[in-house]
Amino acid sequence: MSPQADPTLFPNHPKLDDKAYIGRFAPSPSGPLHFGSLIAALGSYLRARAEQGQWLVRIEDIDPPREVAGASDLILKTLEAYGLHWDGAVLYQSSRLDDYQARLNSLLAEDMAYYCQCTRKQIQAMGGTYDGRCAKRTPKHDSGAIRIRNTLAIDCFNDELLGAIEVEPAFAAEDFIIKRRDGLYAYQLAVVMDDAFQGITEVVRGADLLTSSARQATLFCLFGEHTPKWLHLPLACAQPGMKLSKQNHAPAIDLKAPQASINAALAFLGQPPCEPDRVEIMLAQAVSQFDLSRIPRQQEIILPPGA
Ligand code: GLU
Repeated sequence: MSPQADPTLFPNHPKLDDKAYIGRFAPSPSGPLHFGSLIAALGSYLRARAEQGQWLVRIEDIDPPREVAGASDLILKTLEAYGLHWDGAVLYQSSRLDDYQARLNSLLAEDMAYYCQCTRKQIQAMGGTYDGRCAKRTPKHDSGAIRIRNTLAIDCFNDELLGAIEVEPAFAAEDFIIKRRDGLYAYQLAVVMDDAFQGITEVVRGADLLTSSARQATLFCLFGEHTPKWLHLPLACAQPGMKLSKQNHAPAIDLKAPQASINAALAFLGQPPCEPDRVEIMLAQAVSQFDLSRIPRQQEIILPPGA
C-alpha cells in the first residue's frame, strides 16, 4: 500500500471479494509523469474508487533502452504528491520475466507460437502485415522473434465509453510479436499476463492503446484468461494526431502545486472542479462527484496553446 493511503477517506469501501472491481495504472518509466499520463492515472483512479474497488500500480519496466534512470521512483513520488495512493505493493514487470518466458516456452511447445526471422524489409514487401510464412516453414526456426499463432483474429470489442470498436481485419488477424528479436518481451504479452496475474477487472487508459486492446483480447482468449473490460480515455494532444508524450517533451507535471493540475485534469475528463485543499480531500470529493457519462466520448482532445 502506498505509505499515505488513508482508508478513512473511503468509509464505504466494501470487503473485497472475487468480483470486486480492480483497476490499475501502468506507466512505463521512460520519463516523469506529464499532463497526458496524469489523465490516465486520475481517470483510472476515479473510476476504481467510484466503483469502491482497488487501484493498483504497475511499473512497465521491460524495455531497458527506453528507461530513464530514476523515472520509476519519480513517478511513484508524483502519484503520492497528487494523493493518488495505490493498494498493495507496486508490481514491477522486471520481476516477472521468468513467468513471461515460461508462458512462451509452453506456447512454443504447444505450437501456439513460433520463431520468425523475417526482417522489417521482408515484412514491408508483404504489404506491412506479416503473412505467417515462418509458421509454415520446415524445419522451423529455433531463434529470432516469437510470434503468436493468431487463430482468433478478434477485430471487435466493446469499450465502456466509446462503444463497439472495430479494427482492421488484417491487423486483427496478424500473427503479432510476443517476444522481440532483441530478446525483450513484447508489451502485448507482458500487459496481458500481468492484467490476468493482478486480476484486473477493467483497464482504463488512453485511447492511443485502443487498437492494442483487440490484440490483447486475442491473447486473453488464447491463454484461457478472464478478459477485463476496457475503457479508453480521450488523449491529450498538442495537435491532431500528436499526443502529449515523453518523446515529444511534454513538460513534467508540477510536484509542488498538484491542486491546479488535478483540477485541469478533472476539467479535461468533463468532471466538476474541486475546492483547492489537501490533495486527499480533493480526490475524495472528485470520487464522490465522478460521473462516467461526463467524460467526452472522443479519442483525442486538442489542448489550447499554453495549456
Ligand atoms: N505502459 C504503457 C504506457 O505507459 C501503458 C500500458 C497500459 O496501460 O496498458 O504507455
